[in-house]
Amino acid sequence: MNTLKMGKQKHIALIAHDNRKQDLIKWVEKNSSILSRHFLCGTGTTAKLISEQTGLPVTAYKSGPLGGDQQIGARISDGKIDFMIFFWDPLTSQPHDPDVKALLRIAVLYDIPVAMNQSTADFLLSSRLMEEEYDRNVLDYYSRIRKDNF
Ligand code: PGA
Repeated sequence: MNTLKMGKQKHIALIAHDNRKQDLIKWVEKNSSILSRHFLCGTGTTAKLISEQTGLPVTAYKSGPLGGDQQIGARISDGKIDFMIFFWDPLTSQPHDPDVKALLRIAVLYDIPVAMNQSTADFLLSSRLMEEEYDRNVLDYYSRIRKDNF
């Protein structure tokens, strides 16, 4: 196992599919005082709408269908994003479904907290760990493969 340290200030990615954007914006508004203590980023449209409607600074990547999910996945694998709130739409298929699946796989692999609906987001944000450092455990496939085969 490799350990990756999360600081007290989390680097939180905010993403919502179109039918879920209003729900995420409302959730961010409700929790803006806690979220203002962390670093926020998001896919293009989600990030723009949240900053406009809540006044919080949110770094914007490309829009999801244009590669934003992949950018966020790359930042997770670089250790630059360590927390994700992703309100995806369970009732509509998306043109970038493969990217969404890849992002969720990377989030699991890098052991970052992920909320995909409002109740999980509420539970995560009220965790005492939001204010503490935390060691994430990332599987070390390279040494596992070497141990098994050589
Ligand atoms: P958007 O992307 O914030 O640019 O709409 C979200 C998504 O569809 O993944």
